[in-house]
Amino acid sequence: MLAELEPLANTPAAYGFVALLGLLWGSFGNVCIYRLPPTDKHPKGRSVVAPGSHCFACNTPIRWYDNVPLLSYLWLRGQCRSCKAPFSSRYLIVEAVTGLLFGLSWWFMVVAPALWLPFDQRVIHFAIAAAFVFTMVVIAFIDLDHKLILNKVTIPSMIVFYGASLLLGEHRWYDGLVGMLVGYGVPWLIGEIYYRVTKREGLGLGDGMLLAVVGALLGWRGVVVSLFGGSLIGSVLGIPLLVSQRLKSKPGTDGEPSLLKLELPFGPFLAMAAVFYLFAEPWIQLNFRLTGG
Ligand SMILES: [Zn+2]
Repeated sequence: MLAELEPLANTPAAYGFVALLGLLWGSFGNVCIYRLPPTDKHPKGRSVVAPGSHCFACNTPIRWYDNVPLLSYLWLRGQCRSCKAPFSSRYLIVEAVTGLLFGLSWWFMVVAPALWLPFDQRVIHFAIAAAFVFTMVVIAFIDLDHKLILNKVTIPSMIVFYGASLLLGEHRWYDGLVGMLVGYGVPWLIGEIYYRVTKREGLGLGDGMLLAVVGALLGWRGVVVSLFGGSLIGSVLGIPLLVSQRLKSKPGTDGEPSLLKLELPFGPFLAMAAVFYLFAEPWIQLNFRLTGG
């Protein structure tokens, strides 16, 4: 049955369907990002299933036709229908990013490797990639808001993605286990040394948990690429951000703001690099195979 769909894989209809799927998952991602972290009222976070979505200001339940990803935001002009409280454009960004990453996953996992992998295997790879980018989006945005990487997200993800790694070609059964160990161990070691030397916390253990998720699916190479790639992206994007934050904050009001004290969460940069490696890995493998390495 799947094989009959193969000729459609590289058509606008397929991309449209995949992007729509991404928007829907992005919409659920928003619920996770908003409800999972602990708050003063809910120290353990809240359920992502029940109750349904409510307006954060007036508590009116959001009707299903006002809960359509992307479109609802546009036709309600970003406001609650009853009380007109403005919704953050972040909802829109999370949905759009997830839709875009699902589209990219489709191209990298299903369309591009058409010459060397059977269709059903490529579709399985897409499902794994989509689950992985969704997880990275949720972790990155929670980290951005709360500077927290939650164990209740990372631990189940490690189990799921270790299982998924067994379905990816070219992965041996222990690759994911080694990846998890390196992912958690290396940041822990760096943090220990940094702490001994400077008496300050460097990398958080949450970053190690995130890298363990990456390692579970992509092995130790994925961890190394994410760590170095994340540092690179962090210094390219992060330094201008920190400088602009510093220029905006008035000295004297809250002490002397220093670049070191204005911390940016590292998780979003690690997640970006991990997604990059997810897409790049099949090409790297193919290159090794062609060159007999
Ligand atoms: Zn409202």
